Amino acid sequence: MMILNTQGIVLKSVRYKENDLILTIFTKKLGKVSALAKGAKKNKSSLLPCSQIFSYSDYTLKKQKDMYNINQASCIKSFFDLAYDIEAFSYASYVSKIVENSIFENQTNNKLFYLFLNTLNLYTKKDVDKRYITRAFEIKYLDVMGFRPIINRCVSCGIMPKKLNHFSIIEGGTVCENCNDNSIKVDVTTIRLIEYILNNDITVCSKAKVSKYIVYELENITRKYLINYIDNLNLKSLYFLKDVKKGGYNFE
Ligand SMILES: [Zn+2]
Repeated sequence: MMILNTQGIVLKSVRYKENDLILTIFTKKLGKVSALAKGAKKNKSSLLPCSQIFSYSDYTLKKQKDMYNINQASCIKSFFDLAYDIEAFSYASYVSKIVENSIFENQTNNKLFYLFLNTLNLYTKKDVDKRYITRAFEIKYLDVMGFRPIINRCVSCGIMPKKLNHFSIIEGGTVCENCNDNSIKVDVTTIRLIEYILNNDITVCSKAKVSKYIVYELENITRKYLINYIDNLNLKSLYFLKDVKKGGYNFE
């Protein structure tokens, strides 16, 4: 019988029988697993704080048949505050869905693990532009998944002009004036921002002051890029954000 300790973040928590919960956890050592939190719904269960959505915890897991049982857990950070902020909770649910659709059992992805964890952490902060952080997450996520856009030269012909202000989804990066068929014209600042996001930790990126217009341009690129490159992206989870009026989200 296998017993293993690992850190993890809860992606989904579903009630099972009277007092149990079945969790989908993004673990560091096992990738995505389903785990039974037996008795978690009971009063005073020590498993409860570690069984709620976005909870970041240390888990002791025991494998039984196709499922893991949570033997023990201790919460590192609950992210419970996210539940009180509809905008933050919606964005967190959105990135969580993207993460859930991108990971598998027995396939670790620590870069994605820490990107997700740091992003959740930023959503708890009052002074952070969550819409911009979600775009930064998407760009860094594309990089982690192997779809890093090329942005310091024309991705089509290779030249390095002074000014690159066209972005091609199909080519996967910036294109020059001569190669800009079917590309999106964007502000030079947007291109520089993508480069900045790719080269810096998301927590560092959160300190940049970015105008609404640039975030809008960024969103136009990341949305098309995600749809084009990530096959199993659950579009329903994207449309979920259409309902978030407070965040001014406009995901047509
Ligand atoms: Zn070119």
